[in-house]
Amino acid sequence: MGVLYYSTRGDKQAYTASQAILQGLAKDGGLFVPDALPKLDKTMEELSAMDYKEVAYEVMKQFLTDYTKEELKTCIKNAYNDRFDTPAIAPTVKKAGAYYLELFHGPTIAFKDMALSILPHLMVTAAKKNNCDKEIVILTATSGDTGKAAMAGFADVPGTRIVVFYPKGGVSAVQEKQMVTQKGKNVKVVGIHGNFDDAQSRVKALFGDKELEKELAEGGFQFSSANSINIGRLVPQVAYYAYAYANLLRDGELKDGELLNVVVPTGNFGNILAAYYAKNMGVPIGKLICASNDNKVLFDFFRSGSYDRNREFILTTSPSMDILISSNLERLIYRIAGDDSAVNAELMASLSKNGKYTITEEMAERLGDFYGNYANEDETAAQIKSVYESDGYVMDTHTAVASAVYEKYKAETGDTTKTLIASTASPYKFARSVMSAIDSKYENGEDFALIDELCRISGVKIPAAVEEIRSAAVLHNTVVDRDEMKQTVLEFLGL
Ligand SMILES: *Cc1c(COP(=O)(O)O)cnc(C)c1O
Repeated sequence: MGVLYYSTRGDKQAYTASQAILQGLAKDGGLFVPDALPKLDKTMEELSAMDYKEVAYEVMKQFLTDYTKEELKTCIKNAYNDRFDTPAIAPTVKKAGAYYLELFHGPTIAFKDMALSILPHLMVTAAKKNNCDKEIVILTATSGDTGKAAMAGFADVPGTRIVVFYPKGGVSAVQEKQMVTQKGKNVKVVGIHGNFDDAQSRVKALFGDKELEKELAEGGFQFSSANSINIGRLVPQVAYYAYAYANLLRDGELKDGELLNVVVPTGNFGNILAAYYAKNMGVPIGKLICASNDNKVLFDFFRSGSYDRNREFILTTSPSMDILISSNLERLIYRIAGDDSAVNAELMASLSKNGKYTITEEMAERLGDFYGNYANEDETAAQIKSVYESDGYVMDTHTAVASAVYEKYKAETGDTTKTLIASTASPYKFARSVMSAIDSKYENGEDFALIDELCRISGVKIPAAVEEIRSAAVLHNTVVDRDEMKQTVLEFLGL
């Protein structure tokens, strides 16, 4: 009866939601997808009277059907509590002709908190449900935000350990400081000489390493993933799109059934895929606008039907989107292939062998919900400055990419549909880039001086997450080569 999960690459074994969450990645390297996308059984009108936790329950219960009502409600209650700095959890604000869905009010001030504050609870519950007697080892590659949010979620959670790899020199000062000061007996943070794609592909390889799996099992451990390839990351993200729509309906900003376009600053394609799932569930979403930075592999894909990662990796001021292999796109490819795992597996094999693939015309026709564009560094900075000057609203660099792409979309299409912009990080996390965009005199400021100045010009209180790291001790200083990642994990586990 319930929803079952299958690999996108052909392994025919069916998994319950809790099994898929526990395992993270399918055995054949594919991602878990539901056998059919479920529908909401509540109207938007009904959701509009609910708080965040209640909406999250209504959405998540449709995907995670083997969790009992009690289990799911407990997970939700333990995640979306006063670790968020507003009872709304994910408020929507109206600025400069759009609605900004602020997803950064959680403990690490980036949208990753929306899923990673609940994932540890879902995973520990899954372990109990499936009589898993092994300690769960979370391996995570991060472009800056996932790592901290995952550690904040898993730190000192009994029965779990977490190892995070980040590209040394590829994250912002605040992001790095947040990670290397992370407390917890079960956490390890490691910088690698390489970029995010290097970290992510090595982590995927470790997941697929049968010898390592055996060694771990003998030591009483089992890997899982906190990256957005885990279906337990994706499902909680669907909730905030339903919630945002319901809030706008409640506030009279939308009429019931009126379409709402959504713009998402995209890296690994998890957040925008969640919006697509929300649309399929019945949330009246119009276009899904995919915003990229200079690493515009997705823009090129939506224009040409060819995905090609063979290009220079560009470090930008929106580092969490500096990605050339958008892992979650695989779930969309599978879908537009008509849920055909053979077609998808072939394309993914081509991606790993040649760094590229091209979809068929028939598949491309199924991408009509999507629009892709990108904003370069100058356009992103100009957008931060312009919205600050017009509305006094300071946004972070990732959100600014989305905001700039929204302007391009309107200019190109003339579409005047009301629009929601996913606001994925607090400007405090990227204070240097944000302040330099507003005025070049800030370019050489000291990090915390810029943070204080940002507080002064925006009138937004400095988040606890930032105050905490001002004086926190650095607890992690390991930096390794890519080839040493496996050894690092084994040492941490005492194997
Ligand atoms: C992770 C992240 C993104 C990209 O989200 P995806 O789900 O990987 O597409 C965008 N902005 C910020 C601030 C992020 O942390």
